[in-house]
Amino acid sequence: MAMLPGGEVVAEPAARIAVLGRGLVPATEPVLRGDDLGVLHGDGLFETMHLRQGRPWLLDEHLARLAASAASIELALPPTAALVELLDEVRAGWPPQVEAALRLVCTRGPAAGGPPTIYATLDEVPASSRRARRDGISVATLPLGVPADARNALSWLPAGIKSTSYAVNSAARRWAVRAGVDDVLWISSDGYAMEGPTANVVWLAGDTLCTVPAATTGILPGTTMAWLLAHATELGLSAAERMVTTAELHAADGVWLTSSVRGAAEVHTLDGVRRAPCPRTPALHALLGFPV
Ligand code: PLP
Repeated sequence: MAMLPGGEVVAEPAARIAVLGRGLVPATEPVLRGDDLGVLHGDGLFETMHLRQGRPWLLDEHLARLAASAASIELALPPTAALVELLDEVRAGWPPQVEAALRLVCTRGPAAGGPPTIYATLDEVPASSRRARRDGISVATLPLGVPADARNALSWLPAGIKSTSYAVNSAARRWAVRAGVDDVLWISSDGYAMEGPTANVVWLAGDTLCTVPAATTGILPGTTMAWLLAHATELGLSAAERMVTTAELHAADGVWLTSSVRGAAEVHTLDGVRRAPCPRTPALHALLGFPV
């Protein structure tokens, strides 16, 4: 069953998968070869978008990040029109009132050679994401083990790409479960907050909505935080990219983790310290257009 924002319950649409060149396939049908480099090496890219009223939000921004990531890992993608057609195939007929996560996956393809493997999935937004958006989250800081500028200093290392190599991110999320917190915020060895394993950090300092600069740290340039900061004036706020310490986050007027499906989840507890709810949070949700 899917719960609509007003509390109405409707039949849950089944999760879907569509493969480039094949269209919709039964969810039980294999879409990858055993020697796919996406599986063997995590050698691939993905984008996850929020499907609202049946349409992907910030589609152009996600496709632009995918294209930039593909260029930096030398992955030849099909024309954008083919990717858009694949997304149209997987979302066709999805009930517009049910918000969903639309994922586009592009791997390097079979180790034996061949074109990239490209498919799209569509699932209802998990109840846990909707709950986090509504109720906020507890977050613990976790050492990343490298200085804030370490990754950008390495010219060979593609930075800020949404790679399918999520082993480190998954380890951090498992640690969060063991530690009894909802999420994690990585801290560089020189003491700066970087990002979460699946989200950017955004905070309010007075009348300025801030986030961590992706260009100098190599974190993922999130589409959600970028859109939010670009529209900060609609909340009567200015926007800035800054480095931030954990102590400064404790002192901030509001802290959120932002990502495409969960939206803005307010951090209600940071390292075990309860934070005062930020009165701006409902306006942030409304501006971002996520149902709460
Ligand atoms: N940082 C990381 C490491 C992520 O995995 C994600 C999203 O999955 C984000 C930030 C947020 O990016 P976006 O707002 O584009 O979803």
